[in-house]
Amino acid sequence: MKPRLFTPGPTTVPEETLLELARPVTYHRAAEAKAILAEVSEDLKYVFQTAQPVFTLTCSGTGAMEAAVSNTLAAGEKAILCTAGRWGERWRGILKAFATNIVPVEVPYGKAVTADMLAKALADNPDTKVVFTTLSETSTGVGHDLEAFGKVVAKTDALLAVDGISGVGAMECRMDAWGLDVVVTGSQKALMMPPGLAFIGASEKAWKKIDATAPRGFYLDIRRYKKSLAESDTPFTPGNTLIKAQRASLKRIRAEGIENLWARHNRIAAACRAGVEAMGLKVYAERPNSALTVIAVPQGVDGTATLKALEKKYGYKLADGQDTLKGHIWRLSHMGYTDSFDVLGALSALELVLLESGFKLEAGAGVAAFQKTYATGK
Ligand SMILES: *Cc1c(COP(=O)(O)O)cnc(C)c1O
Repeated sequence: MKPRLFTPGPTTVPEETLLELARPVTYHRAAEAKAILAEVSEDLKYVFQTAQPVFTLTCSGTGAMEAAVSNTLAAGEKAILCTAGRWGERWRGILKAFATNIVPVEVPYGKAVTADMLAKALADNPDTKVVFTTLSETSTGVGHDLEAFGKVVAKTDALLAVDGISGVGAMECRMDAWGLDVVVTGSQKALMMPPGLAFIGASEKAWKKIDATAPRGFYLDIRRYKKSLAESDTPFTPGNTLIKAQRASLKRIRAEGIENLWARHNRIAAACRAGVEAMGLKVYAERPNSALTVIAVPQGVDGTATLKALEKKYGYKLADGQDTLKGHIWRLSHMGYTDSFDVLGALSALELVLLESGFKLEAGAGVAAFQKTYATGK
């Protein structure tokens, strides 16, 4: 059986990147390692759409989220948390661990926080230091309108910190133009790498607050990374084998062009949603994003058993819901190294498994709708 990975992290890694991972280990303070870090850092600025330095941390995405909190907030300071799912809840866990004063702006799973909701929370809490939110809420498939959030927050003294894990490299996201003050992401989602690296960038406005805030923690003190990166170096031993491999995946993004990449994801996502609906299924997210499609499990179907059959019979590995959503949704990633035929295959395998389980649906309906929508680009 050919394994086919459609989980929203980790995602499929391109061949040239896998080859980098097979090379001998090298010394991380050598000139070559510094040159590679410098190159990767430049390409990350392009991916983040920022003129500010972007730092590479050796940890999973959550480490960069923790850095966003620990570097910008002192204990007791106020943070607004715009949360629409499990990854917003991850922010909450970190904010609690750092004893911040949290003002929640929360919507039920499947819904999106709006800029109006955020504007009201900011008006009610003028002493807010940082607003935290998620670009792609990977647990529900919702995408947030960060361009609108950025406009709202820019009018205040607060910073806007964005969990861009799974979103950055799949969905339009312009750190500087949209006024996003802190952006974090991880290697194993849209950046086409195994897990192990995380990235963080901060605006000039954010750096003012960071420099005025006493360090909380050591390893994730991003001032150390800033100082080192000025010399194309890292403060601690970096995962330099991973950084070398990340360079290969970033080259792929450079070659495609970030706007073409966003357009590709949008086109595949729209076709995927059309396919899902033509199968008589529902898209779970009210404001779906282009990194993944989350499908509501129809009544009478065992969601978890369906995923098991997909993997066992056809090699397609999709993700279940997390926590209370387990068994209720299917998550199909189309971010990163995924093309239209990959997703077409996944949809057709889902059709097959549903047909085999006795679910009423016209064979090929989803596949046909995908193709029609893909062909017209709408
Ligand atoms: C995957 C994911 C995370 C968690 O990242 P880790 O690398 O597992 O620490 C956080 N936020 C979002 C939106 C994600 O998709």
